[in-house]
Amino acid sequence: MCYETELTFSPTANKKKLAVIGAGPAGLSFAMYAADRGHDVHLFDQANEIGGQFNYAKQIPGKEEFYETLRYFKHQLTRANVTIHLNTLANTETLKDGNFNEVILATGIKPRSLTIEGHDHPKVLGYLDVLRDHMEVGKRVAVIGAGGIGFDVAEYLVEDADLSENKDKWLNHWGIDKSYTAGGALKEKELTPTTREVFLLQRKTTKVGKGLGKTTGWILRQSLKLHNVQMINGVSYEKIDDKGLHVVINDKPKLLEVDNVIVCAGQEPFTPLKAPLEEAGFTVHIIGGADVAAELDAKRAIRQGAELAAKI
Ligand SMILES: Cc1cc2nc3c(=O)[nH]c(=O)nc-3n(C[C@H](O)[C@H](O)[C@H](O)COP(=O)(O)OP(=O)(O)OC[C@H]3O[C@@H](n4cnc5c(N)ncnc54)[C@H](O)[C@@H]3O)c2cc1C
Repeated sequence: MCYETELTFSPTANKKKLAVIGAGPAGLSFAMYAADRGHDVHLFDQANEIGGQFNYAKQIPGKEEFYETLRYFKHQLTRANVTIHLNTLANTETLKDGNFNEVILATGIKPRSLTIEGHDHPKVLGYLDVLRDHMEVGKRVAVIGAGGIGFDVAEYLVEDADLSENKDKWLNHWGIDKSYTAGGALKEKELTPTTREVFLLQRKTTKVGKGLGKTTGWILRQSLKLHNVQMINGVSYEKIDDKGLHVVINDKPKLLEVDNVIVCAGQEPFTPLKAPLEEAGFTVHIIGGADVAAELDAKRAIRQGAELAAKI
């Protein structure tokens, strides 16, 4: 909105055959706009559905709206005649006989892993193990990294899955009196108690959750507080063993006796195809998390896809 004179999608006079690798928000946005301009767009994803990380984000209580974003894109791709290749790992081999003029890499990110002693202990899970592979998580959990994804994982672990889909439950949860009889329409909160004990940890000494969105961060912090999630800053991670996670907090060694440690320690751009594709002679553009990995940045990814589609 409000860029109607700067960001325009005029029909192309130079139709190209384009391969888009990755059907996350960046690839979806590029594919839709480029096809609308008249290009012949082929969208590849190794997964069996479009959406990339939005398929993990949509499972977080309160983020169900992403189902709608994906429904929107699914419909738009069909309308715009994008050819979709799911369950297809794209590489130079896959693309070599396709006569593609250019390739758009929208391959997303790779989660950063830990390097401390015990990083490969069976207790240690990545956030994809939890949100993508639905591996079992124990009752006592430490989440390493309190960025947007760390907060979301903690919320996923403690919150009732259907809270935001069940209006009365949601109103009771937040203590909203829909009969308007109590002062300020507020009443005692009624929580569904969690059976988990969660520690949300960060290395930085700033307030946990300081970097969250200004208008929504307080909700996330409040929500975790209601479930007694312990948010701790200034944590140094020492090692992980059968006993749990060994940390130092304010110069004091401490053992967190947890069943699982879930790593949400940031992300790096995932671009292993860039060099081989360029060596094979393809012109390559990089968009979304594959360009800049910044955790919760779908808006940027979608915009970058749209901007490239407007000028390719
Ligand atoms: C739990 C969670 C919550 C989030 N919440 C928010 C939020 O509230 N707001 C927000 O703005 N952002 C949020 N995000 C971040 C958002 O999902 C990302 O910013 C966005 O998905 C990045 O889009 P992308 O298209 O660059 O990459 P991705 O979504 O990572 O998509 C990359 C795709 O490329 C595919 N791929 C990679 N290599 C190949 C290959 N060789 N062949 C075929 N396919 C390949 C992958 O399968 C994947 O589908 C959240 C993320 C997570 C994990």
